Amino acid sequence: MKTWIKNPLAVWTGNELTAPNGLVIEDNQIKELVVGQPTCHDQVFDASGLVILPGLVNCHHHFYQTLTRALPAAANLKLFPWLQSLYPIWANLNHDSIKASSELAIAELLLSGCTTVSDHHYVFSEALTDSIDIQIRAAEKLGIRAVLCRGSMSLGESTGGLPPDSIIQTEDQILLDSERLLTQYHDRSSQGAMIQIALAPCSPFSVTTSLMTDTAELAAKHNARLHTHLAETEDENQFCQDVFNLRPLDYLESTGWLHNNTWLAHGIHFNDQELYRLGQAGTGICHCPTSNMILGSGTCRTLDIEAAGSPIGLGVDGSASNDGSNLIQEARQALLLARLYYGADRITVDHCLNWLCKGGADLLGRNDIGQIAPSMQADLALFSLDELRFSGAADPLAALIMCGAHAAEHVMVAGTWRVLDRQLTHTDLSEIKAAHQLAAANILASAQS
Ligand SMILES: [Zn+2]
Repeated sequence: MKTWIKNPLAVWTGNELTAPNGLVIEDNQIKELVVGQPTCHDQVFDASGLVILPGLVNCHHHFYQTLTRALPAAANLKLFPWLQSLYPIWANLNHDSIKASSELAIAELLLSGCTTVSDHHYVFSEALTDSIDIQIRAAEKLGIRAVLCRGSMSLGESTGGLPPDSIIQTEDQILLDSERLLTQYHDRSSQGAMIQIALAPCSPFSVTTSLMTDTAELAAKHNARLHTHLAETEDENQFCQDVFNLRPLDYLESTGWLHNNTWLAHGIHFNDQELYRLGQAGTGICHCPTSNMILGSGTCRTLDIEAAGSPIGLGVDGSASNDGSNLIQEARQALLLARLYYGADRITVDHCLNWLCKGGADLLGRNDIGQIAPSMQADLALFSLDELRFSGAADPLAALIMCGAHAAEHVMVAGTWRVLDRQLTHTDLSEIKAAHQLAAANILASAQS
């Protein structure tokens, strides 16, 4: 069945191709970009008045943190004390709360135009070892493309790390479970993979050096990518200096991670020489502007990182440091933050759209998503400009970012509509919200008891 998505207001393809009269979808792929009339089609989907983007790619998140948004005890803290105030609450995560938070975060992302999400889950305990399995079921239920990062923490308070010992695991537990997940779920297909696994020790201050090294070897064996937080705050730089006698990038390199199979969340506190080495290695950076501003962590030097040769993508980061999971809004934040740092004439809307789509695909090692072109996956985000905020806008593409789009009208993942008329097509949102609110209340009650 070939569907002609017809007569859009504008199409941003993310490449040199144009599609003034829409595009044709067949099964899970884009078949044709239409300039006049399509070569062939079976049905029409009317896209009048809509702006079409490739499906947005979110490269860093922590679904479970939707349970602890706007929490007074953590609301005005820097990263380390912020984490220390939240770890004891997150220690109470259970099956129901992982399920509810994953479904809610994915729903929120889909409704903002996101079609591929990477989540970084690193809180495991004796009672909860199957969080990634639960997340995979949530992604399949809502129909989003997902790269689930098997996170880990192996350096607890008693041995000089930041997290409490109750939520760390042994290196053997972590590596065994990582290998199980890779074997069971990791789709290595070059086209259309819906579920992939990446390996993701949490951060230098919560994992052992040997775990970093062993994880890099395991990922290479399974052709999987590596992800971690790095250079997020000055506190982290100081920790690495004190504990390893290395700066974070030197530490990364010493553990076999400085290459183009790795992408890093944040990447703020690098010096010029480190940016050069990062670019030479092709290690990607997931820029999380809202999180960086909420926690006051610093400003990612996005344009310098790109100039050095590293790809940039965007992430909403965990919803306790955002405190939302709205990806289209993140592009506006990225634009504003880059303009504040570099000036108004260095960064364009087109630039931010590129980070939002193709840049994200590059970070995840995907060349089948992030652009609109024949044979790419049929992942699309369609936005209506029929809102007060857009009235009077001259350029429909610029309007999405400059006027602050916040909700997609329709969203397609792998050729299937997952959002129509701003509603999830296959899932009851009220059930997801009710389960999530109960889980959020329960986790706070458990932490207080
Ligand atoms: Zn994070």
